Amino acid sequence: MADPVMTVVDRLHEKHGDASYDLDWDTPLQLLVGSMMAARTRDTLVNKITPALFKKYPDARAFAAADLTELTNDIGPVAMRYGKAEAIRDACRVLVEKHGGEVPRTMDELVALPRVGRKTANVVLSVAYKIPAGILIDTHGQRVVTRLGLTQGKKPDEIEFELMDRVPTDRWIHFGPALVLHGRYTCTADRPKCDECVLRDVCPKIGTAHEEQRPKTRKKKPEAPVAKAKKAVQQDLFAAAAGPVEVPDVPADWRDALADEFTRPYWAELQSFVQAEREAHAVFPPADEVYTAFRLTPLDQVRVFLLGQDPYPGEGQAHGLCFSVKPGVALPASLRNMYRELQDDLGIPPAKSGYLAKWAAQGMLMLNAVLTVRAGAPNSHKGKGWETFTDAAIRAVNDKPDPVVFVLWGAYAQKKIKLIDTDRHVIIQSAHPSPLSAASGFFGSKPYSKINAALQKLGHPPIDWKL
Ligand code: SF4
Repeated sequence: MADPVMTVVDRLHEKHGDASYDLDWDTPLQLLVGSMMAARTRDTLVNKITPALFKKYPDARAFAAADLTELTNDIGPVAMRYGKAEAIRDACRVLVEKHGGEVPRTMDELVALPRVGRKTANVVLSVAYKIPAGILIDTHGQRVVTRLGLTQGKKPDEIEFELMDRVPTDRWIHFGPALVLHGRYTCTADRPKCDECVLRDVCPKIGTAHEEQRPKTRKKKPEAPVAKAKKAVQQDLFAAAAGPVEVPDVPADWRDALADEFTRPYWAELQSFVQAEREAHAVFPPADEVYTAFRLTPLDQVRVFLLGQDPYPGEGQAHGLCFSVKPGVALPASLRNMYRELQDDLGIPPAKSGYLAKWAAQGMLMLNAVLTVRAGAPNSHKGKGWETFTDAAIRAVNDKPDPVVFVLWGAYAQKKIKLIDTDRHVIIQSAHPSPLSAASGFFGSKPYSKINAALQKLGHPPIDWKL
């Protein structure tokens, strides 16, 4: 009896027979660099940046010798550009030192480059060199083969190795991109279109609770045309190609403390969810401001932790710090109440601006539990994985050797107390400053003077609350 995986390979080949790649490149090095830049960034944007970039850095030696700040600017407004610039420079240094500046032609040599994983290596080998060294597995492919029961693997690499044992080598180059297309347009995370799936008759999910529970398709929409799909899939292919771990552009100590999170399955699902939301809706804050709290307050500088709940859902408000809004944006009601209490507590008159970065820069981590939101839809990204991630951040702060002042306003934040060693750390809690609750215990709670008193008792300078 034929291996069922071959039915999947053949059907997907029939449906997505000519999946291809859209990044502009002339040399294997350019494909490597372009694919590293394209993680969570549209290929069209990368293609706008790379002509000037490749002119300025014509070979691996030029990238290897680059000034990191300058290279960061040169790779332009791609997501996570600080980390990407460093990765590109470091990978090129190894290319120069060990490979004479050339991109090697084997999987082992490619994955030995700093922050190059099997996905990037698969793209370079299959596209630039036409060498079938593996099967590209991204989060879409992982979801599809798991639902189809084709793998016992839990991680992309495990799945890839299982499939490589079962799929003939000459089908590897195509199979990965076809899985991406199928996962992106048919076997989607939230609403798999089982009714129109070419694998329906071989899928064990049909007739199970999975299918029964999936939301009914509101209005039957034809799947995106293959030509359109071919273009759009490039973003996924190269987003997958950044390596096995998608790591946000945050200070190194946060990266280290949260490293385990980036390898857990929920993280990849969460990134896919947010990306899909951004493609379909306005989402706040902008992608390059999601991690502002981490960037402004490295872990080793955290001495106060103010926990918020959800980003502001209005246009131009959220920028990655809880309660804060960008300069020039009208003050939200909660923030007006915070300023009122600041005046009552310490006599500091309300600032005109609601931009609180100055507080964050003094060691106050101002983190929401959920880091993104759909425009106009509060709590719309609740329960998608951000809470798991920010709980890990709370644990990381809790694990700091020196005591920290945790500020928990409202019942939602106070539930997190179970993550905090209250014997070691200081807890300051009260009602939330929202207009719904400020009069029930926030006004008069004097949090600012209490925070500063606690800091001084711990041997730290007070926060200068004046903005
Ligand atoms: S039938 Fe449904 S769950 Fe199964 S592969 Fe197709 S879309 Fe995915």
